[in-house]
Amino acid sequence: ASDRKIAVVTGANRGLGLETSRQLAKQGVYIILTSRDQAKGQPVVQQLQSEGLEVGYHPLDVTDAVSVQQLAQFVRDQFGHLEILVNNAGIGLDFDNGSLFNLQIETLAQTLQTNLYGPILLSQALIPLMQIRGYGRVVNVSSGAGQLSEMNSGYPSYRMSKTALNALTRILANELQGSNILVNSVCPGWVRTDMGGPDAPRTPEQGADTIAWLATLPDGGPTGGFFRDRQPIPW
Ligand code: NDP
Repeated sequence: ASDRKIAVVTGANRGLGLETSRQLAKQGVYIILTSRDQAKGQPVVQQLQSEGLEVGYHPLDVTDAVSVQQLAQFVRDQFGHLEILVNNAGIGLDFDNGSLFNLQIETLAQTLQTNLYGPILLSQALIPLMQIRGYGRVVNVSSGAGQLSEMNSGYPSYRMSKTALNALTRILANELQGSNILVNSVCPGWVRTDMGGPDAPRTPEQGADTIAWLATLPDGGPTGGFFRDRQPIPW
């Protein structure tokens, strides 16, 4: 149907990206599931299709500007517009290296490349496809680790990347003020994924809930906010 919403989810072959894709597809959103490794993404698409969900696939490495352009061209050719972007792909390289005094600039650069530059490139390439219909929801999957108001310890490059991602949320929301393109950050909580590890208290289902909620906000909903459990949290 022409009013069907189209969504791009990054890093969707596992963890929160996969579960967010499932929750959105269950609501009737057509998912363009993306992964940097096609061999990991395709079986997941088949899994979701076997659950009766409408899901397509396109490769995407968020650190590769050419790959981002190819995805945007694909969306433009296949659908002509886009409604939802979930910037979920993320890495944490210094979870077991707590001190800034041990921080390697190369580690920070690599982390920013995925967690910040990726969402910037995707926003630049895909928000114009939201402006065609004047409807958009952008969800930046951030973390409480990026909250400047909390005296968190540990993993400096991951923290800085999520603080910077939150800044992107604010800048984009400001630029899009007055439009029906809503841009928000979310902390999913500590979730049992490959990144979160087996001791995390939350299931991927619980973690994806606020992501999917922000991806489907009603018109007039919040923009430029930071949420956990569907509630605003401090920056
Ligand atoms: P996972 O490690 O399980 O999944 C990360 C996903 O990102 C994988 O699909 C991975 O692909 C993908 N990815 C990494 N780099 C790239 C890239 N260059 N291009 C495309 N995809 C890439 O983590 P989670 O599902 O837990 O995390 C998802 C998001 O949630 C992240 O942004 C994370 O920071 C955030 N988050 C997670 C928390 C948690 O407790 N789990 C807490 C707070 C925030 P591949 O399989 O190829 O490696």
